[in-house]
Amino acid sequence: MLTDVPLGVNQFLLTGKERALLIDTGYGRGCMPRKVKKLTSLPVTVVNTHLHPDHSGGNGAFDAVYVGEEDMPERGIPSNGLFRGVADAYRGNFLVRPLISALGKKFLLTPGGEEYLPMPEEFDLGGRKVRTVKWPGHTPGSVLFLDEGRKEIFAGDAINSAQWLFTCPEVTASEYAELWERLKGELSGFEKLRISHSRKPLPIGFIDGFVRALRNVNPENSKEVKIKGTPHPLMIYTENDEVYGKIGIWAYPSQMR
Ligand SMILES: [Zn+2]
Repeated sequence: MLTDVPLGVNQFLLTGKERALLIDTGYGRGCMPRKVKKLTSLPVTVVNTHLHPDHSGGNGAFDAVYVGEEDMPERGIPSNGLFRGVADAYRGNFLVRPLISALGKKFLLTPGGEEYLPMPEEFDLGGRKVRTVKWPGHTPGSVLFLDEGRKEIFAGDAINSAQWLFTCPEVTASEYAELWERLKGELSGFEKLRISHSRKPLPIGFIDGFVRALRNVNPENSKEVKIKGTPHPLMIYTENDEVYGKIGIWAYPSQMR
């Protein structure tokens, strides 16, 4: 696990006997290839859990990157429209303007010369196979990486104690709950969920608490937060799960069902 500072976003390097798999490239300080070379001399395949700037910003330092088909850059970068909307809403405010333009350097994703390839169903690293599963919810093209040998799931931003769904407005909370419930049968042997925004993995049982929260969401029990420049207000639902503590779901009103 490699972690970007100061915002603490994780990337993961999985090594087999013949190849290594780099899951996400971080904010893109350009030093990622060097960091990876320090850890392995194997040829490296690069993948993104989803196309967001804190996961894909460093893609340009590599020749080719596999992404979920629905997140292919030619379909539009999932978060750029959202960021531009907010940036435009604050453009008239001279106090905030410098901050917005500084943030734009980090939060607007602009692909360079790297080639984007559709995610295959499996990567064979030599003695270590990693299966991929399409997981629309955080972005349309989000992908889970299942390392059956190590009993770990690399989930990116697909599950968290503060879950953003509004970056994929076409999925509702209950549809997302169904997706997780469907996977549960396949997950009996897995132990950990490795996520991008916490160095501590989540226990596999967290899925139960997460699904409970997704099922409890409705517009009446959520708080509305208006953010200038977003197409709709954000609804924030928070519950105190008896086992896993605070779990929050952030979504547009149309997704709170
Ligand atoms: Zn994300």
